[in-house]
Amino acid sequence: MNIQFADRMGNVQKSFIREILKVTVNPQVISFAGGLPNPASFPVEEVQKATQKVLNDDGNNVLQYSTTEGYLPLRQYIAQRYLKKKGLIIDPDEILITNGSQQGLDLIGKILLNKNDDILLEEPGYLGAIQALSIFEPKFHTVPLLDDGIDINSLEEVLKRCTPKLFYAVPNFQNPSGITYSAQNRESVANILKNTNAIFVEDDPYGELRFIGEDVPSMKTYLGDNAILLGSFSKIIAPGMRLGWICAKREIMEKLIIAKQASDLHTNYFSQRVAYQYLIDNDIDNHIKKITELYKKQRDCMVSMIEKYFPEEVKSTKPEGGMFLWATLPQGFSSLELFDIASKQNVAFVPGDPFYINKKGTNTLRLNYTNSTEDKIEEGIKRLSEAIIGLIK
Ligand code: PMP
Repeated sequence: MNIQFADRMGNVQKSFIREILKVTVNPQVISFAGGLPNPASFPVEEVQKATQKVLNDDGNNVLQYSTTEGYLPLRQYIAQRYLKKKGLIIDPDEILITNGSQQGLDLIGKILLNKNDDILLEEPGYLGAIQALSIFEPKFHTVPLLDDGIDINSLEEVLKRCTPKLFYAVPNFQNPSGITYSAQNRESVANILKNTNAIFVEDDPYGELRFIGEDVPSMKTYLGDNAILLGSFSKIIAPGMRLGWICAKREIMEKLIIAKQASDLHTNYFSQRVAYQYLIDNDIDNHIKKITELYKKQRDCMVSMIEKYFPEEVKSTKPEGGMFLWATLPQGFSSLELFDIASKQNVAFVPGDPFYINKKGTNTLRLNYTNSTEDKIEEGIKRLSEAIIGLIK
């Protein structure tokens, strides 16, 4: 039989990172490739207690079907604890609990995008968003990232050429670059977008993981209802619980709820109840502090090893939070070629190409620091430096 797949699948690439992770199965390989939180930070015992409690106290209900919007006390918690702290006054009815923030991307694509609609993305951009949104066959337009956020001149230029329906971005500790937009940059982006019909999709899974400097206001503070905010428990509790949320104005929320219902009825109710129990029985701020202390040490170690071993010509970011840093080889050198050399020396990373829409042979690479011990970071960066020197010298 000749299976007739839908045209839309022609545009969607298999996740390149999944392919790369195959290399890292070899225990000899030091991997900076994955994007995984450090499992040492998972609150296993506390989640075990919360699970027992919800089953003991309300077993028949927690195992039942539930509402599409999500568990109301959890939505109230997100509004009170998370969004209020950011200065955002949000009604819990403007929050939808999703199966991770990744599902938020799919639902947003479903309700907003027709084939060939213009959309804007950062360059480099989050691979998972490129993949999720490609399904809807939009026309991608990209805006480069500078050290302090979006390149404003390029944004103005690109807006002369297209009328985007949405602008997807990760303003805090961006994946893949680790860059955070400054307050000034956010304000400039917002002022430009105010004159358009583009909805700003602000994806913020890493915002709580700041270990240096001060928080910067959410894009939603500048853009109000013209922004959709995506949040996640993946990096502050555990990704396996698959819990995230979308915060959007009612008009958008009504459509999101229909799309969510059609997709999976509702997010795993048991998981929502366990997470809520965990959140009210524990000090989440203290837990986040432990995670950021751990990640800061790993980040400091990687930054100082890069300073010690990498050739001067290689530039890299120094993230103030999150899980990634981004290195740039001198012009003309390909990080894919570097990957081949590096994997022979048993060290892995993600070459830049999949984070760009239409560029091949890029000279950039993403390095994750949250999943390796300091010893491994030192050894891995040493091996990677040798591979870089082999390539560029
Ligand atoms: N957005 C970004 C920018 C991410 O890096 C990730 C995780 N890799 C996600 C969304 C998906 O997170 P979740 O586990 O909440 O689906």
